[in-house]
Amino acid sequence: MAGKHDPIIVVGGGLGGAAVALALGRKGFAVRVLEQAPEFGVIGFGIQLGPNVFPMFDRLGVTDAVLAHALFPKAILMVDSVDGGEIARIPVGDSFRQRFKRPYVVIHRVDLHGVLLDACKALPNVELVASRGVADYEDHGDRLRVRTEDNRTIEGAALIGADGLRSTVRQQMLGEGEPRTIGYVAHRTIVPMADVKFAVDRDDVVLWSGPGFHIVHYPLRNSTLFNIVTVFKTSNAQPSDTASPHPDLDHVYRDSHPTMKALWAMMDLSRRGWVSSDRDPIRHWSKGRVTLLGDAAHPTLQTLAQGACMAIEDAVCLAEMIEQSGGDFPAAFRRYEAARYLRTARVQFESRYHWDNFYHVGGIEREVARRIWSVRGEDEMFQCLAWLYDGFALPEKQGRAA
Ligand SMILES: Cc1cc2nc3c(=O)[nH]c(=O)nc-3n(C[C@H](O)[C@H](O)[C@H](O)COP(=O)(O)OP(=O)(O)OC[C@H]3O[C@@H](n4cnc5c(N)ncnc54)[C@H](O)[C@@H]3O)c2cc1C
Repeated sequence: MAGKHDPIIVVGGGLGGAAVALALGRKGFAVRVLEQAPEFGVIGFGIQLGPNVFPMFDRLGVTDAVLAHALFPKAILMVDSVDGGEIARIPVGDSFRQRFKRPYVVIHRVDLHGVLLDACKALPNVELVASRGVADYEDHGDRLRVRTEDNRTIEGAALIGADGLRSTVRQQMLGEGEPRTIGYVAHRTIVPMADVKFAVDRDDVVLWSGPGFHIVHYPLRNSTLFNIVTVFKTSNAQPSDTASPHPDLDHVYRDSHPTMKALWAMMDLSRRGWVSSDRDPIRHWSKGRVTLLGDAAHPTLQTLAQGACMAIEDAVCLAEMIEQSGGDFPAAFRRYEAARYLRTARVQFESRYHWDNFYHVGGIEREVARRIWSVRGEDEMFQCLAWLYDGFALPEKQGRAA
């Protein structure tokens, strides 16, 4: 096959970049991953993974390694931030696993990233280069050239921008400017489970929902760690991720349940916050020998906990399309985005919808949500989730793409 030894350049070594490097590397392609940070894989918080991502892990050959680090909650719960009462319960234990064939897990990001990176390192054709921020690129039709922030020139056969929400590659390709912000910021922390002295569910994924704020928590690493994410609306949300003062917080948790207040007290807001952002879905995120993947292509609010899962689905699909195209990268990229845009757009739209109409409603709206969910049976719930958790079918093999 033409071009297998001419490296495909991946910009960004996050979960999406690592996954596509592995997917391509396993197919024999030379891959060079350029990561701006001095180290790969240091974002040290938890992540939830739906059953849809496991068939992708099978293809990447890492399912057992991922499962070895994972925990298996029995339920995803949404509780009322004021009285602590249950609003919704999605059972993700045995019946869920029977229905969706694969588990719902929580895992430390460092562990997941480590599994992907270790698998990349075991392949001689994958090169991981840290401290190599990409400034821009030139597509010469038959070649691709990137310029790094330290003014080096690197050539390759094609370019995959897996450089996240504020993608430099996307900015050059589409020139849209900053992502959409919605006035919310997320702060994350991990504490030793032994330091959690108050009564709280330590086994499940729990989301405390209130008007203009929520808190999510779940255990990690054999339940020795407790992962807490607190998200709230603030007039001080910065346009980019920063540690910023939040002058208007006193009211946020004022009427909350004591457990929620205790969780809140464990947060250190002086550390980096993640400004909740997304973009409108688009149909095309490729041009010539350049394409995008993960948050660079279809950034979403974290409502469905699927951003990384989508990036990993992208990675497997993209590698498959590249292999099938026999070296015709523009054709491979067109097939890839055609296969992916509707599913990822649905994640983006539903995340927005549930963010506003479910996660953060108050008053009578929350009472209504509670009533609706209280009569929802397990089968109905699974049916609602089937489009997502039943997974992504790779496009049929076409041989050489048209
Ligand atoms: C609070 C929160 C909770 C979340 N929870 C979940 C969850 O439970 N489950 C889930 O599936 N998703 C979750 N997500 C979403 C998930 O984190 C992202 O969708 C996922 O990390 C995207 O992966 P990515 O590889 O596309 O981008 P990133 O993870 O952003 O990786 C991009 C990489 O590119 C590098 N980079 C950037 N610019 C350059 C450049 N110019 N040159 C070189 N390198 C560059 C960056 O340093 C980074 O390493 C959550 C998000 C947030 C904010």
